[in-house]
Amino acid sequence: MGEAQVSLEHLFRVFTKPEHKDSKLAQIEQHLSDNILDFLSQHVVTKKTSLEEVEKDFSNSKVPESPEFVSTHAESLLDKLVAHSVNTYSPTFIGHMTSALPYFHLPLSKLMVGLNQNLVKIETSKAFTPLERQVIGMMHNLVYDQPESFYDEHLHSAAHSLGAFCSGGTIANITALWVARNKLLGPQKGFAGVARAGLAAAYRFHNINNVGIMCSKRGHYSLSKAVDVLGIGREQLLTLPAPNQTLDPEKALRAGKRYQEEGNKLLAIVGVGGTTETGHVDPLNELADVAKELGCWFHVDAAWGGATLFSSRYRDRLKGIERADSVTIDAHKQMYVPMGAGMALFKDPENANTVRHHAQYILREGSKDLGATTLEGSRNGMAMMVYSALHIFGRKGYELLIDSSIDKAHDFSAMINKAQDFELTTTPTLSLLTYRVCPAEIQQILKTASPSMQKAINEKIDALVVAVQKQQREAGKSFVSRTRLEAPDYPSQCITVFRVVLANPLTSHNDLAAILAEQHIIAKKTKAWRSLIDFVNSNDMQSIA
Ligand SMILES: *Cc1c(COP(=O)(O)O)cnc(C)c1O
Repeated sequence: MGEAQVSLEHLFRVFTKPEHKDSKLAQIEQHLSDNILDFLSQHVVTKKTSLEEVEKDFSNSKVPESPEFVSTHAESLLDKLVAHSVNTYSPTFIGHMTSALPYFHLPLSKLMVGLNQNLVKIETSKAFTPLERQVIGMMHNLVYDQPESFYDEHLHSAAHSLGAFCSGGTIANITALWVARNKLLGPQKGFAGVARAGLAAAYRFHNINNVGIMCSKRGHYSLSKAVDVLGIGREQLLTLPAPNQTLDPEKALRAGKRYQEEGNKLLAIVGVGGTTETGHVDPLNELADVAKELGCWFHVDAAWGGATLFSSRYRDRLKGIERADSVTIDAHKQMYVPMGAGMALFKDPENANTVRHHAQYILREGSKDLGATTLEGSRNGMAMMVYSALHIFGRKGYELLIDSSIDKAHDFSAMINKAQDFELTTTPTLSLLTYRVCPAEIQQILKTASPSMQKAINEKIDALVVAVQKQQREAGKSFVSRTRLEAPDYPSQCITVFRVVLANPLTSHNDLAAILAEQHIIAKKTKAWRSLIDFVNSNDMQSIA
């Protein structure tokens, strides 16, 4: 069934010959190019098939013995893979940072895949390397706004790097903190530097107990991976409580001083430019002062929020980002580039040299090979997609997209404030917000309830929010995510909330109204709603009071 001949001739054809224009593969391509939304609505439906059912289609651990015809295979992909994929283009899919893509990426990605350049070294990416350097330069300029002479000198310099292009925010954060670590524990008289001698030798030489990184509890979990791979250990990620969702500069200063007094070195403070859960921005300017006073590196994780810099109206929300030693920005988030495009930018173009590696057959000294200062080795030409998006949208185009996302978040938060049985938990700084469903009468009771009563009621509301979120997802019409947060009103407790990311330009006011209405209908039908009301009216409540 669909088995192809095992012959070199057949395999040569697979390498070189386009599929027949009526083949399944060609049909898929045609349908995708004619109308991607139609293709998705026909194929990508969040069917009620359980994950376990889908896993059955992917359970054979044996490599197939014989080749398959490409078209037969394409057919099976449609059935098994595409049919159960998530429609990230849907205007009512507002739970995550992954959204619709502009159509031009589809044909352009063919160019990227077809050319198959490898950015690790010039010999396999002669034009792509300068292009990538330019992209990094443009983003550097957006953040740091240095004079033209600065970019003339450094953009294509073999001895400098304005940043590192990589697969995403996680690698960008690791790269930035890797550079910071190697700089802090760099070579000096009597010590070869951490890159050569290792961490144990570095601690002995400096006579310190530990090296740590500070952020708020809202810092992304990639920071925890970073301290792990950098060898300084997860316990040395100092996460300060953030009842207001941001890192308090005074508390950061105090915690930093204490850490240093205990015989440790503070490697970096990480400010977040748009937290993943609520979109809050840490007070970057104040944190830059704190980092200066503590004498440590200042990194800004703007994986999500960095693109806000395109907006004249909202770029001030990231004020102070230009003082960061390094900045992470994901192009695959608010820059609408396909998955796999992150960047770490360095204020000082010398700094990347702390991680420079050389190898004999590639990455020779003095070469402009990007692989010498990137964590990843072989890399695709994804920078081209960023380059194209930057040109096709332009700063002003991005500005419109960013402004309209943030405006939409304000619109949605106004709708939530007006809706009877909902309450807003965090107002949007960027295009994220959190809220929860809660019967109006219980909102009133909560206001005057004792802390222990609030705690008991909030736990019941948590169950309601979870039930609504799950049932809405299972119904398959829309998707809102959920998370747990410290909320200002309940300082000693985390509450469960809906989390919304308004990134998809196709999402309309009516879509948002429908999502809220659906949640209301679901909520009132749940057992959790009933049990919440009964609980509040019961003797249990009186006994807690
Ligand atoms: C998304 C995100 C990351 C991680 O980026 P990936 O591209 O998923 O690796 C890190 N930090 C923040 C603030 C993010 O929003």
